[in-house]
Amino acid sequence: MRLAQPLQALIDQLLKLPSIGPKSAQRLAMFILRLPDEEARQLAISIIDAKKKVFPCPTCGYLTDVNPCMICTDQRRDNTLLCIAEEVTDVMAIERTGFNGRYFVLNQDFNLLKGNDIDDIDVKSLQERIANGGIKEVVLALNPDIDGEVLSRYLASIIAKQGVKVTRLAHGLPVGGDIEFTDEITLKKAIEGRKEF
Ligand SMILES: [Zn+2]
Repeated sequence: MRLAQPLQALIDQLLKLPSIGPKSAQRLAMFILRLPDEEARQLAISIIDAKKKVFPCPTCGYLTDVNPCMICTDQRRDNTLLCIAEEVTDVMAIERTGFNGRYFVLNQDFNLLKGNDIDDIDVKSLQERIANGGIKEVVLALNPDIDGEVLSRYLASIIAKQGVKVTRLAHGLPVGGDIEFTDEITLKKAIEGRKEF
C-alpha cells in the first residue's frame, strides 16, 4: 500500500531511531499526525533546538548548553574527586546516587570486538585535567565488561603515573552489565565500596 509521501517520509525518519521497528514507527507517525499543530511544532522545534544548542562540556564532556556545564560550575562539589565515565548517560545514572565529585566523560567508543585499538583512546585532555592539580582521587566508573576492564587497566596505569590515587567501582555490579541501566542502590553501593586499582 502506498502512503502519502510526507507520511512515508516521517515513518522513514522514525525508523532510524534506536529500537524502533516498522510497526512502532507507523504508530508514532500516526500519534504525531493526531497531535494538535502546536504540540507537533514544539516536538520538531525541540529536536532542532537540542541539536543546535547542546554540546559536550569542554571541561568534563557532559552534555550542556552553557560552557562550562552546571556540574563544572557547581561550587558545592568535591574538587579532589574525579569520576571517569564512558558516556553521558552513565553520568546521569551516577548523579542519581548523590555522588558529589567532578566528572570526566570519555565520549569515545572502545570495543575490542569492533577492532578498536586502546592506543586510539585520546587521553591527553584527561591527563591535562589531572595535571591542573587539586585532584586526589580518580574513580574509574566504566562498565563491568571486558571492554570496560581493559580500558580501566589502561587508564589506571596512565593516571597512576601522575601520582594520583586510582579507585574503581566495587564489584556487585553485574558482570557484563551496563552502568546506565544499573539501579541506584547497587550503583551507590558500588561507588561507596570502590577499591584502589
Ligand atoms: Zn562540565
